[in-house]
Amino acid sequence: MTENADLAAIREAVRALCADFPGEYWRALDRERAYPEKFVAALTKAGFLAALIPEEYGGSGLTMSAAVAIMEEIQASGCNGAACHAQMYTMGTLLRHGSAEQKARYLPGIAKGELRLQAFGVTEPTSGTDTLGLRTTAVRDGNASYIVNGQKIWTSRAEHSDLMLLLARTTPRPPLNPPPHAGEGGVGAKRTAGLSVFLVDMREVKGNGLTIRPIRTMMNHATTEVFFENMRVPAENLIGVEGEGFRYILSGMNAERILIAAECIGDAKWFIEKATRYAGERVVFGRPIGQNQGVQFPIARSYIAMRAAELMVREAAGLYEAGKDCGAEANMAKHLAAEASWTAADMCLQTHGGFGFAEEFDIERKFRETRLYTVAPISTNLVLSYIAEHVLGLPRSY
Ligand SMILES: Cc1cc2nc3c(=O)[nH]c(=O)nc-3n(C[C@H](O)[C@H](O)[C@H](O)COP(=O)(O)OP(=O)(O)OC[C@H]3O[C@@H](n4cnc5c(N)ncnc54)[C@H](O)[C@@H]3O)c2cc1C
Repeated sequence: MTENADLAAIREAVRALCADFPGEYWRALDRERAYPEKFVAALTKAGFLAALIPEEYGGSGLTMSAAVAIMEEIQASGCNGAACHAQMYTMGTLLRHGSAEQKARYLPGIAKGELRLQAFGVTEPTSGTDTLGLRTTAVRDGNASYIVNGQKIWTSRAEHSDLMLLLARTTPRPPLNPPPHAGEGGVGAKRTAGLSVFLVDMREVKGNGLTIRPIRTMMNHATTEVFFENMRVPAENLIGVEGEGFRYILSGMNAERILIAAECIGDAKWFIEKATRYAGERVVFGRPIGQNQGVQFPIARSYIAMRAAELMVREAAGLYEAGKDCGAEANMAKHLAAEASWTAADMCLQTHGGFGFAEEFDIERKFRETRLYTVAPISTNLVLSYIAEHVLGLPRSY
């Protein structure tokens, strides 16, 4: 499969931008767990983060394939798109399900970079992957607003975002007795009712109902836990229909999975390139280590895994662009790509021997960063469950 000239030009432009943000830049931030402000500002200025926002709202109106190329090149250049990747896909919920007024109010500002929509509040400490079990509530208070109480965890970039897409329960959870195989649209559809999506303007409620606490993690990810205590959200910030929020969030997840898979492909390319170069240069026992099959085979295996995953990412992106159902392909792409990047990370570290652990090689940093993606945004087991149930027709296991 070959890419068109437009995508090649996008890749080149992203690479040129990333060249201004070398390993030293990321290492210094990693030590301090500091946010890459300059990098995010440069990406925003170049319009890359507005890739999927239609031109009528001031975005670039590009395709999913273009967004894939952008995210992949960021990672393949040694940079870390996790600082801002959510901006690309969270706005999809607003775009597809928001009112004309909401879109006109927020999308142009997001496209220009004046407003950041980078925070996505879904996961909670007690419910984890069981999103329907979330406990944060939004209770209507007259016509004007909702009052939100509860807690989210792993709400990444909340400190660096103006807006947050929040999923909260607006009506109590229905009794838990879905029949086996209950699916969307059947009796089981009720299982998903009662959750609603809000676009929270955090600038209005920080310190006034909203508290954000950073969580220090093994990599520099700017993630947080957030607490809502009688946080007031204007009723006009409800996205779509009350109670339908789970469906809106799900519809954005395919884009999220495809883009994160693209980041993993970029990471895998970075590790493979780094390992190949080092294996060719490092001489031990009088010959390059890459002359030994024990060293070259793991690199070749990583390359094969990366290429196979890359094809699935392209397949998923193509289906997404054609407006077709891509749930299975998006999940499989995320799974294959996350496995490929993690295997490549381990291979790259092993190829470098002791030097792989030295900070200045950037391998240990990228190793820590790419490890996330077999867990988030969805963990491996849950992808496997999805394929088992929805593609193979096996009984639902949870
Ligand atoms: C750095 C970081 C950033 C994140 N950013 C965000 C964000 O911005 N917004 C957001 O909403 N969330 C975010 N997340 C949350 C992320 O999506 C979840 O961590 C992930 O979905 C897994 O959920 P959990 O941690 O609650 O694990 P749990 O649901 O507690 O699961 C723990 C383990 O058990 C396994 N498991 C659970 N149930 C089953 C089952 N039925 N069958 C088989 N295995 C099962 C899982 O696969 C997993 O391995 C982030 C997480 C991290 C670590």
